[in-house]
Amino acid sequence: MNISILVFGSEIFLETLPDQIRDTAAFSIELIANLNQAVSRIQIAPPDVILVQASSDGSMELCCWLKEQTKLSWIYCILLEDRSHILSDKAKYDELWESEITSAALRQGADSYVWWLPENSFKDNLVKSKAKERLLIAQLMVGLRKAQKYRDLIRTNDLLSAIALSDALTELNNRRALEWDLPKQIHKARSLSLPLSLIILDVDYFKKVNDTHGHLVGDRLLQLLCTRIKHNLRFQDTAFRYGGEEFVIILGNTTCEEAIVVARRLNRIVSEQPFAINNTLSINVTISLGTACLRAEDDTKGTSLLHRADQFLLEAKTSGRNRVIGCDGHMLKTACLQHATAS
Ligand code: GH3
Ligand code: MG
Ligand code: MG
Repeated sequence: MNISILVFGSEIFLETLPDQIRDTAAFSIELIANLNQAVSRIQIAPPDVILVQASSDGSMELCCWLKEQTKLSWIYCILLEDRSHILSDKAKYDELWESEITSAALRQGADSYVWWLPENSFKDNLVKSKAKERLLIAQLMVGLRKAQKYRDLIRTNDLLSAIALSDALTELNNRRALEWDLPKQIHKARSLSLPLSLIILDVDYFKKVNDTHGHLVGDRLLQLLCTRIKHNLRFQDTAFRYGGEEFVIILGNTTCEEAIVVARRLNRIVSEQPFAINNTLSINVTISLGTACLRAEDDTKGTSLLHRADQFLLEAKTSGRNRVIGCDGHMLKTACLQHATAS
């Protein structure tokens, strides 16, 4: 097991750490002396444990910052007390004073506080020096256990989220994922003043496929259709299975006009080539699509935006299917665009 340790402090401080930590393959150590560099390093690749030299500039700020980070506060932070004025006071004062100093350090964000006296203080007392090293190593092990538990939890959480948010048949995001993602996309678009659009599409006469070839063939067709759609989306587009044979695609940073272009492309790529179910059976299907783009008056959850796209999908169905209907953004519903690709 390799435990990653970030040491925040000086070269000289690093030298004072026990050989079992510095020279063992079990630990990979990185030394950083600058607060900003330490913060960006932790954000990019969180270590298991952080050893902080108390006398370093920014040591307390680093401990405080770490504990304020929702996603990083699990990192075990050991504050090593080497400030000469405190160490010299230690000789003068009693246990009560030591408890006060320790609780102040823990309140500031450290998970553990270890007195780190200079090597020469132990010259006459090897037993004490070794005890100090054992305490630090024991604290590192506590940090490692915590990091392992946290990483296991994250892995399980990711797996459960993936299961909860994806559709088993098509492997697309499911409707729950849409309800979770759409408000976030709307918030992002509004705060960055970027356009946002979406498409709702539905397979035409899909019931007939099931009735003619059976549900298993219908299932396979849905899988092939989704794969084809997924491969024809841009990086900022996210597809969701909304229900049965109905899908929603969120188009990030996309105007109404661009949404119609994307929808027309999807309409074309579905209709122009049949879906090969097996060696002997290929099925032609078409889709109908409605598009809508985010307006200032739309609610934050995306209900009105979805409803508008759904109304256009309904129009595409009633006006003959296999087509795109959407609004160009500046016009009212009555002036919306209709693109029929087949009669
Ligand atoms: P329209 O052009 O009006 O959309 O006609 P349609 O036949 O596609 O519409 P309808 O809503 O009547 O039928 C949709 C069908 O899709 C009915 C349902 O059994 C089928 N369906 C929904 N989900 C699945 C699925 O996961 N697998 C299969 N095989 N069929 C599904
Ligand atoms: Mg349908
Ligand atoms: Mg349907």
